[in-house]
Amino acid sequence: MKCSLFSEEHEIFRGQIRKFVEREIIPNVDKWEEEKYFPDELFIKAGEAGLLGVIVPEEYGGSGGDAVHAAVLIEELVRSGSGGVQAYNIMMGFDFERLVMAIGAVMGAEYALHEGMKYAKDRTAFGRPISKFQVWKHKFAHYATMIEAAKQLTYHGLCLYKEGENAIKELTMAKYLATEVSNRVTDMVLQVHGGYGYAMDFPVQRWWRDSRIGTIGGGTSEIMLEIISKMLGL
Ligand SMILES: Cc1cc2nc3c(=O)[nH]c(=O)nc-3n(C[C@H](O)[C@H](O)[C@H](O)COP(=O)(O)OP(=O)(O)OC[C@H]3O[C@@H](n4cnc5c(N)ncnc54)[C@H](O)[C@@H]3O)c2cc1C
Repeated sequence: MKCSLFSEEHEIFRGQIRKFVEREIIPNVDKWEEEKYFPDELFIKAGEAGLLGVIVPEEYGGSGGDAVHAAVLIEELVRSGSGGVQAYNIMMGFDFERLVMAIGAVMGAEYALHEGMKYAKDRTAFGRPISKFQVWKHKFAHYATMIEAAKQLTYHGLCLYKEGENAIKELTMAKYLATEVSNRVTDMVLQVHGGYGYAMDFPVQRWWRDSRIGTIGGGTSEIMLEIISKMLGL
């Protein structure tokens, strides 16, 4: 089935979210974590910016967007908020949970991989950048491939969902694959940071922690596999 997911309108919405995140979230993430505080005012500001009730019909006070608007919101919150948890706080609905978690996991993994590669290019050991050691090149190449596979499965599930088709199997598989891949990616990126990966001064430990909820919340990976195996007739 052919399906073009992101229209110009979706991309304009993406730009609005990015600006909101850059203004209201990024400058405060470290402070909120240090103070163990998540501000209620952020929900009010997000509402004023049209970021709440994205898929709620306009007659009920929402923005009347479609599933792709919601996907764009999660992508941007995770990608530019350097941590996925706030994305799940801002939007969650039952049917939608696996899709949201898959999108969050893919974006979180993409972000972590990108940052990990930057670090590996800058950091030298034994006279060369870490990124030049074959073992690390292959790990980055392997996980870039895994992320792309998880992303395409997730977009396929989103496409089916948007068209109103039954997407339970695809979204369960996408949630399972994307969150498992994200765990492995953030663990690998933490490892490439060496000792700094374990230190609170570097954000990679937060990406790892944020990722770990993915295979537990919204149904554990074990339960996702139970559902998939039932759908396979096992
Ligand atoms: C930060 C956070 C936020 C959360 N937010 C929400 C929320 O908003 N709403 C909500 O409803 N819940 C929420 N949860 C709960 C979450 O969905 C559960 O933690 C999760 O479903 C696992 O349930 P449990 O913790 O009771 O583990 P248990 O059910 O005790 O499972 C423990 C382990 O046993 C495995 N296991 C259990 N049954 C089977 C089986 N049949 N076959 C094989 N393995 C099995 C599990 O996969 C897991 O690895 C949240 C949890 C966390 C940590």
